[in-house]
Amino acid sequence: MKLRFASIIDWNDSIYEGKIASVVYLAGCPLRCPWCYSGALVTAPSECSSEKPVEFFLNHLAKQRDKCNAVVFTGGEPCEQENALAELCAKLRGEGFAVKIETSGYYPEALAGLIPNIDFVSLDIKTRFEQDDYAKACGFKGNAELLVSNVLRSIAFLETRGAQYGVEWEARTTVVPQLNDDAQIIREIARHAKNASAYALQALETQDREFVDAGFAQNASEPSREKMLELAAAAKEVLAALGGNTNVIVRMKNAEAKI
Ligand code: SF4
Repeated sequence: MKLRFASIIDWNDSIYEGKIASVVYLAGCPLRCPWCYSGALVTAPSECSSEKPVEFFLNHLAKQRDKCNAVVFTGGEPCEQENALAELCAKLRGEGFAVKIETSGYYPEALAGLIPNIDFVSLDIKTRFEQDDYAKACGFKGNAELLVSNVLRSIAFLETRGAQYGVEWEARTTVVPQLNDDAQIIREIARHAKNASAYALQALETQDREFVDAGFAQNASEPSREKMLELAAAAKEVLAALGGNTNVIVRMKNAEAKI
């Protein structure tokens, strides 16, 4: 089986806490978040991507084994390539790697199928679960009801099947001014993170970024530190009230703080 990918970057010490990881950028995504930095990855096939058999990745990653103890699959949307990815993840774990997947949650069944062979999931929750808001945040022109339902089902799979297999997960929101930088929106999102090991708020970065939606770039701005702390406090308050995990993480410019 083959996987469509754009690049592999080895020796990353910030993408998977406590690990040194090789990061595999898989190509293709059903969403078009206007603020997405990975424009070259979302359309596939494209001149930026190619297909390689599972053995290609195994050979490359085996050579990193003395320096890396984890592999992170990001994208694009990794779950779009479920079958080949499941085969690769199973083999990587057999080689002793920890495996993390970053996903939008658009493919709940695929995520459920991958769960037995992964260790950690970062699940994006783009905004509150109102159909129009969610579709707008994802630049999604398809069935918004299905989009919202898919992400909610992905969360449910992580809470049930994920717990059964000992898979840790974090919920993650990119804070985008004028889209979701509102304490009430973040409170509503945080409710769905109560069973995650952490809820991470990461600030939109605009410097030297090319966004999927060129129009978005013209008015794009970064949330302030004060705004990020305000939103983190709102999330923490909700999680505490629900008796859930209160680990709230703020990420700004490659720095991370636990609140
Ligand atoms: S940010 Fe949105 S468009 Fe970009 S890869 Fe993630 S889900 Fe796809």
